[in-house]
Amino acid sequence: MKQVEKFIFFCHLMVVSILFKTTEAFSVRASLSLFYFDTTSNKSVSDHCVCGLYGLNSPLLSAQGLVGIPVSDNLEACDANTRFTVTKPPWIALIERGNCSFTEKIQVATRRGAAAAVIYNKLGKGNSTVLMSHPGAESIVAIMIGNMKGMEILHRIESGMKVTMVIEVGKKHGPWMNQYSIFFTSVSFFIVTAATMGYFIFYSARRLRIARAQSRNQRQLKAKAKKAIEQLQLRTLKQGDKETGPDGDSCVVCIELYKPNEVVRILTCNHLFHKNCIDPWLLEHRTCPMCKCDILKVLGVEVSQ
Ligand SMILES: [Zn+2]
Ligand SMILES: [Zn+2]
Repeated sequence: MKQVEKFIFFCHLMVVSILFKTTEAFSVRASLSLFYFDTTSNKSVSDHCVCGLYGLNSPLLSAQGLVGIPVSDNLEACDANTRFTVTKPPWIALIERGNCSFTEKIQVATRRGAAAAVIYNKLGKGNSTVLMSHPGAESIVAIMIGNMKGMEILHRIESGMKVTMVIEVGKKHGPWMNQYSIFFTSVSFFIVTAATMGYFIFYSARRLRIARAQSRNQRQLKAKAKKAIEQLQLRTLKQGDKETGPDGDSCVVCIELYKPNEVVRILTCNHLFHKNCIDPWLLEHRTCPMCKCDILKVLGVEVSQ
């Protein structure tokens, strides 16, 4: 039982993680084109890659312009008064990740009139990117690129080259892939839900069946016991009997003294009680209230398993 529950829990976890993966697949890639005049080889170079990732709150639009970097010791543009190397629109701000939120960086670029903010990942992150969340900075295009690509552009600008960038909405992950993910997720969700429901229905039905069998057994046992008790000897007390005399006993069930004309039942252990007292007692307790002898066992009424 416990293992089945664990398994179902595990299945749910898997479905949730698949859902998570699917939403990740919905993130939009940005294609980057770079144009510059390479002063070392004296050649015009155009470089193209699909290496950016649009921020969650970014408009999914194209943007282009000369790339500008912060004019300060650090390149993170966290200071609200940060100025950039380019001011003539259209231009694109290149900012390093870290020290403050994406929203703050993008807002600085927006205030300075940039058409887009390109944030590159921290040192040591290679060319990996993360999906940026930047609520409150939604008016300009914001994308993230890897650290290596960011450093490459940065070094070109620092060495005096004028780099122009064109950002375009890249191809989304193959549409078949998304459809496949959605289909797969729906199917697995359905299967897990159905399995869970099936298991609980099966489990409840089993419990109900056991409870019913138990109450049926109990009824049968009670009927059998009643029949057996009827077989025990009865006696009607009379005036002058030892039980009704001055040294007479009292019935231990009701603690009343025996009186003439009362009907008593004599158990197999020879103890006697009022019939009306002992019959229900035996049905409930099985044993003689005085010597604890299991009367029903003696009569052959055993508790069945
Ligand atoms: Zn009694
Ligand atoms: Zn007894």
